[in-house]
Amino acid sequence: MNLTSLSLTGLKNLLQKKEVKAQEVVQAYLERIEEMEPQINSFITVLGDRSLEEAGRIDRKKSPGNLAGIPLAIKDNMVIQGLRSTCGSKILENYKGSYTASAVEKLMKQDAAIIGKTNLDEFAMGSSTENSAFYITRNPWDRKRVPGGSSGGSAAAVASGEAPAALGSDTGGSIRQPAAFCGLVGFKPTYGRVSRYGLIAFASSLDQIGPITKTVEDSAFLTQLIAGRDPQDSTSSSHPVPQYPEEMKKDLKSMRVGYLKQEMLEGIDPEVKEIYSHSLGYLEDLGAELQELSFPVWKYGLFCYYIIAPCEASSNLARYDGVRYGFRHNKAPDLSQMYENTRTEGFGSEVKRRILLGTFALSAGYYEAYYVKAAKTRDLIRKEFEDAFQKVDFIVTPTTPDLPFLIGAKKDPISMYLSDWFTAPVSLAGIPALSLPVGFSQKKLPVGLQIIGNFFQESNLFKLAFRLEKKVKLSGPNLHRKEEE
Ligand code: GLN
Repeated sequence: MNLTSLSLTGLKNLLQKKEVKAQEVVQAYLERIEEMEPQINSFITVLGDRSLEEAGRIDRKKSPGNLAGIPLAIKDNMVIQGLRSTCGSKILENYKGSYTASAVEKLMKQDAAIIGKTNLDEFAMGSSTENSAFYITRNPWDRKRVPGGSSGGSAAAVASGEAPAALGSDTGGSIRQPAAFCGLVGFKPTYGRVSRYGLIAFASSLDQIGPITKTVEDSAFLTQLIAGRDPQDSTSSSHPVPQYPEEMKKDLKSMRVGYLKQEMLEGIDPEVKEIYSHSLGYLEDLGAELQELSFPVWKYGLFCYYIIAPCEASSNLARYDGVRYGFRHNKAPDLSQMYENTRTEGFGSEVKRRILLGTFALSAGYYEAYYVKAAKTRDLIRKEFEDAFQKVDFIVTPTTPDLPFLIGAKKDPISMYLSDWFTAPVSLAGIPALSLPVGFSQKKLPVGLQIIGNFFQESNLFKLAFRLEKKVKLSGPNLHRKEEE
C-alpha cells in the first residue's frame, strides 16, 4: 500500500485499526521527502529523527490522540519550541522558537508527528514562494511553475505526497491561492477562529492560520482541532467550535449561491473563466439557487489591502533590529549603524518594499490620505459582503485570476500583487473562504473555486464544499478530458 498517497482521514483509519504503525507511516513520508525534495524543495527543515522518535513514543501510548502518528508539515512562520523558525528570512535564519504556536500545540496534543517546517515567501509576503531567502519551491504538477504562495512549501509538500496535510497562514490569500495552484483544499477560517499566538506577525488584523489538505473532510477535521478561544490571543473568538466533520455530512438547508457578474471576470485567464462557469453548472446540479451579484467596491479591495497590510507589516517588523532576534550585523561602528546594516542585509527586497510602503503611508501628512482612506474602504468592503449575505448563503469566485505561472514570470511586483484580486477583499472583511479544486486546464494545471461564507459559517462552507467535491470527482475533475470523452 502506498501510504503517501492517502488522505489524512485515510491514514487515520489505518492507524486506528492498527493496520500500520506510526513509525512505519513516518518512515514512509521521510522516504518520500528524500525522493521528492531535490526536485520540489518544499521544506526548510525536515525533522527526520525527531519525528521518528515521536512516532515511536506514540506507538507505545495506550490511548493516543486523534492525530496519532499522522505526519504534518507546518509553515515556517509558526514557532515551535526549540526548532528553527525562519519565516523564510535571512534575518531569522538561526532563530529558534522559545515557545510553540497554539495551533501547532493543539495538533501535538493530539499526537501528530510534526515532520517538518515548510518554505514560504519571506515574512509571508508574496504569491509564488519565489521571495523565500533560501530557495524557490516548485509546483509538483509542473516543476517549471510556482506552487503559489506564500504557503507554497506547505501546498507543494501535500501535493507531492511529502505530507498528508499541512498548516499554512493566510493574510490576503496565502492558503487559498497555493492550494488552488497545487490542486488542494485550502481553508482560511473566519478572522479570530484560530489563535494567532506563535504565528510570526505580518498584518495582525488579517493573519489567520488554516489547513491545506487533499480533501474537504481533512480540512474540516484539522480546522476543528485548531479552532477555538485562546487566552494568549485576545483577538481569538469564544464562538463555540462545532464538530465540523460530522456537521459537514448533515443537510444543507439553504443553498443560495451568489456568483460574479461577467464584467468582474474581465482580464482573467480564459481557462480559469471557463472552469469557473463550469463549476456554477455543478452547483446548479446540486440544487443551488444561483444569483448573479455585482460588487462595485470589490475593485478597490486589492489596493486597500496593499495599503493596510504593509502599514501593519512596517510596524510588526520594527522588532527585527539585530538586538532581540536572529541575525545581527556586528561590524558597525555604532548602534544606529548596526540597526541599519542588520535590516539592510537581513531583509529581502520585497519585505523592504513593504516596509517602505507602509512607513510612507503611515507618515505624518500621508496618514489621512492613505491609511485612513484604506481603513474606510475596508469598512465599505465589509458592508458590501454583509449586504450580499442578506441575499445569498455563499459567494463563489475563481480563487485566482491566473493558472499556476512560470517561475520568474511575474518580476513586476504589481503583476504579482494582482494574484490576490479575488482573495484579498475576503481577508479584509474577515470572513471565511475555502478553495476547492474544480478542474484542470488543457496543460493539466489545477484550478480552484473560492467558496466564501459569512462570519463563523465554517460548518456550512464545509457542507457545500463537501457536496461539490463529490460532484466534481464524479464528473471527473479534468474538465477537458471529460469533454473529449
Ligand atoms: N500575496 C499576498 C501578499 O503578498 C498575500 C500574502 C499572504 O496571504 N500572506 O501580501
